[in-house]
Amino acid sequence: MLAAALAALVSCRSAKTAPDGGFPPVRQDGKTAIVAHRGYWNCEEAGFARNSVAALRMAQEAGFWGSEFDVHLAADDVVVVNHDDSRDGILIRDHAYADLAGIRLENGEPVPTLDDYLAQGAKSKTTVLVLELKSHPDAAREDRLVERCFEGLKAHGLFDPSRVIFISFSLHMCEKIAAEAPQFVCQYLNGELSPAQLAGKGINGIDYNEGVLARHPEYVAQCDSLGMSSNVWTVNDPDRIDAFIAGGIHAVTTDVPMTARARLGEKEFRKK
Ligand code: MG
Repeated sequence: MLAAALAALVSCRSAKTAPDGGFPPVRQDGKTAIVAHRGYWNCEEAGFARNSVAALRMAQEAGFWGSEFDVHLAADDVVVVNHDDSRDGILIRDHAYADLAGIRLENGEPVPTLDDYLAQGAKSKTTVLVLELKSHPDAAREDRLVERCFEGLKAHGLFDPSRVIFISFSLHMCEKIAAEAPQFVCQYLNGELSPAQLAGKGINGIDYNEGVLARHPEYVAQCDSLGMSSNVWTVNDPDRIDAFIAGGIHAVTTDVPMTARARLGEKEFRKK
C-alpha cells in the first residue's frame, strides 16, 4: 500500500518535472549525451566560428545529441545568436539588428538571427537545439525574449520538447518557461541553487559549471531522484569527462565533443 502510494507520488512528480522528449530525463542504460558547446565541435579547424550556422550544421552531421548556442534580444526585438553581449563593440540589447548587419563571423557568415539558426536546426531531428537565453537587466525584456523564442520555434515547427531544450542563468526566464511551457526541459545554469530548491520553483533541470558539480557531486543523484535532468559545462579535460560520465551525469557540454565521443564509446546517448 505504502509502496504503491510512493510509486504513484514518484510517477506524478516525474510527469510534472521530467518532460518526455529528446533529453534523457532519467539516464538511460547508463548512457550520457554530448552537447557541442556553442555549436563549435571542431574548434581547431579553420573556417569555423562559434555560434555560426555552419558550426550547428557540423554538429548535426556528426550526430551529437545537442548543439548549444546563445541568444540575445536586440532593441528591435530581433533575436540574435551570439556568445557575448557585444559583437565588435556593439552592445546587442541597445541596438537594432541592422546595426550588426555589416559584421561577419570568422567564417564569413553574417551574425545569425534566431531565424537563421532555426532554419538550420529544423533540418535534423537527431540533434537537439540547446537554446541559451541570455540575461537582460530589465525583466520585461527577458519576458519578451522568451516570447520571441517561442514564436520563432513555432514558426519553424520546433516548439517541441523533443527538438529543443532551454538553458539560462536567468532565474526569471527559467521560472517563466516552467510556468508557460513545462513540457520542455529547462536547465538553470547558475549553481547557487540546489536541485531541490529549483524543483520547488518548478524548474526541471540543472546545467552547472563543472566546478560547482565538483563541490556538489551529490546534485547529480539528487536530480535523478527528483526526476530532473543534469548537464555540466564546459568540460574539456578528458579525465574530467570520464569522471562526470562515471558520476552519472545525463549530458556533458564540451568544446571537444569528439574527445567525449571517444571516451564514451557505446555509452554515448544519441537521439533516434
Ligand atoms: Mg552558452
